[in-house]
This record gives sequence, structure tokens and C-alpha cells, in this order.
Amino acid sequence: MSSETNLLDSEEQILEAAKALLQDDASEPPDAAAFADLTRQYGRLLRHLRHLIRIGDRMQEELNNLNDRLQLSEAKYRSLFENVSEGIFIAQLDGRFLDVNPALAQIIGHKTPSEFLRTHQDDWLWPFVDEDEQERLFGVLAAHGQVAHLQLRMRRWNGESIWVEVNARASLNPKHGIATVEGVLSDITERKRILEELRHLATVDGLTGLFNRRHFLELCERELQRARRYRLDVALLMLDADLFKTINDTYGHDVGDEVLQVIARLCQHQMRDADIVGRLGGEEFAILLPQTGLPDALGVAERLRKVIAQTTLPLFDGRMLRFTVSIGVGAGAAQTITLQELLKIADRALYAAKGRGRNQVISYQDLTLPDVAQTGG
Ligand code: GH3
Ligand code: MG
Ligand code: MG
Repeated sequence: MSSETNLLDSEEQILEAAKALLQDDASEPPDAAAFADLTRQYGRLLRHLRHLIRIGDRMQEELNNLNDRLQLSEAKYRSLFENVSEGIFIAQLDGRFLDVNPALAQIIGHKTPSEFLRTHQDDWLWPFVDEDEQERLFGVLAAHGQVAHLQLRMRRWNGESIWVEVNARASLNPKHGIATVEGVLSDITERKRILEELRHLATVDGLTGLFNRRHFLELCERELQRARRYRLDVALLMLDADLFKTINDTYGHDVGDEVLQVIARLCQHQMRDADIVGRLGGEEFAILLPQTGLPDALGVAERLRKVIAQTTLPLFDGRMLRFTVSIGVGAGAAQTITLQELLKIADRALYAAKGRGRNQVISYQDLTLPDVAQTGG
């Protein structure tokens, strides 16, 4: 700018000098040297001007390039905004929406962003987030300015329940002069369902629906820790189907499977809600009885043994199949016994029951030394 002013000043001075020369007495011959000097100065000025024009052109070109790039980048982000499967929103901190993309409109159950914005123009705190969840979202946002990987239960506009994950950041929007929240919201309902299914598959035995060995032991360990804190007794029943190989060999594996399912069902029906029932493997089951001493555990075991022995399974040819189980019972004060010890004494009692003719309940206290030595560990 200043060089431009200088140039203009110089031009003015040259013009003034030229005018002065021309206005000099016409009879006097023009001062050739002064004239040549003026022409040189004028030539220099023109070169400067041309240089300035070139700079101006280049600046304009750069500006055009920048504009093109800006438009391209805007188009790119607009296209992302329009086409991603994640919902994107800009809202006021009080929850009112300023802009949403098509994915967000669809997640909530509206056809288009404009339909969404029309419907929720005056909605404070998202009406589709359960009330207790709203506190989690807006409380955390107000306190920390952002939420990361927050999983929320939400209702779609038709009432359908979904799970979403929200990542959002609150900031002061310079354009609107208010605190706004910009965020991304993904529908994770299907992911949650699959995870839940996998978790279920990982904890439950496919044939009987009882807890599998690993999960059963995990739950027992947890229960034992609780029982230790409250100084409670715990008992454990170990069940094994009697002569089950013969059932398989005589009636086939499918009938064997059905027998296992019936035994599992009876175990579950006979127990309290707090009892933990698991299939340890094959035709072997275990039940942990929280807050139960040996006499009560023996009563429960005997009742279960009887119910199983009295149950019949109708076979395809009309005959009725009967089957029995042997049960070993272990018990102790949670503070003085580990899960491994509890399993071991119940297992020894079970083997004693097998040795003494099957279809009976044996307590670990009934074990004589030879029994222990015979089945020992
Ligand atoms: P005992 O009274 O001494 O326990 O005799 P048993 O025949 O029950 O014991 P054994 O260990 O000899 O046989 C257990 C059988 O259980 C052998 C195995 O093939 C069968 N079994 C294990 N798991 C399953 C299963 O999921 N389905 C079926 N149908 N059979 C199974
Ligand atoms: Mg058996
Ligand atoms: Mg067995």
C-alpha cells in the first residue's frame, strides 16, 4: 500500500515537473537534459507499475485458488456430513438442535433433517433420551465440556428402544454467541444385541441352558467372597447321572441328551433363586447354596434326588424311562473354606455315593477314611 502511495506521489511529481518545463517561456528551447531525466523517471515508474500489476494479478490468482480449495473442502465436508452412517448434530447446550445430518434424522426415525428440525424445534433436552439418561448426558457435558463413548438408551420417534453411543464436545459458538454441543451419535443397538448374545453363549451351556463350568465357578467365587464378608455358611451339591453310559448305549445319544435336559430343569425348579446351578461337564452338575449349612443342604439334596428318581421320560415306543442321580454334599463356613476345597469334598462325597450303590445322597462328613483314600483327589 505504501509503495503504491509512493509511486502515485512520484507520478504526480514527474507530471508537475513536465508541466513546469512545458510552461517555461516558449521562446526558450526545452531543457533537453531535464526532459531526458523526466523520461527516465517516467520509464522507471512504468516498470514499477507493471511490477505492481503483476503482483496484483498473482494475488488475485492465489485468492481464486484459495476460494476453489475452500469450496472443494466445504463440498467434501458437506458430502461427509450428508453421507456418513453416524448421526452428526449441532445443538445448544440446553438440548435444542441447530443442525443435524440425514443419518441422525433417520436414527431417531425422521425422513429428513428438515423434518427432524421442524419436529424438535422447541424441544429442550432431547425428548428421546430417557430422563435418567438425560442427566448423564447433559450433566457430564455441562461439568466436563465433553462426553466420550457414552452409551445411552434412547427411544426412536415411534417409541422403539435403541442403544446409541455419543461422542460430543461443548464449545462457545462464535456465530451464535451461545454454548453449543457438536457431536457424533452411532446406533449401536445391533452391536449390543450381538455382544449380549455372545456373552450369553459364553456363560451358558447350550444343551441344558445352565451356567457352563467356567461361569459357574466364576459366580461361585463371587458368592463365596460375599459370604466371607458376612460370615455365612455355604454348601455345594455335586450331582452325577447314574449309569448314564448305559442310557446312551441302550436308548441312543438323543435320549441321553433329553435326560440331561430333564435333570437340569428339575435342578433349576427345585432350587431357590439365589442358588447357582451349573453343568460342570458331561453328566455332572453342581449347585451352590448360599447361606446354607450342612443339614439344610442335605435336605435339599435328598428332595432333589427323590424328584429326579420319580420322574419319567416317555420314549418314542411308549415305554417310560427312569433315571437316577448320585449327590455328594459339601458345606462349610465361607471364611474357612475355599471354593476348591468345597468342590473337592463334595466330589469325594459323590464318589462315595457311587461306591455305595448310587441313587443316594452322601455328606462329606459321612466319608470314612477308606472312602477318601479310594477316591482321593
Ligand atoms: P456312573 O454311574 O459311575 O457315573 O456311570 P456313568 O455311565 O454315568 O459314567 P461314565 O463316566 O462311564 O459315562 C458317562 C457318559 O456320559 C459317557 C459320555 O459319553 C456321556 N456323556 C457325556 N456328555 C454327554 C452329553 O452331552 N450327551 C450325552 N447323551 N451323553 C453324554
Ligand atoms: Mg455318571
Ligand atoms: Mg460322570
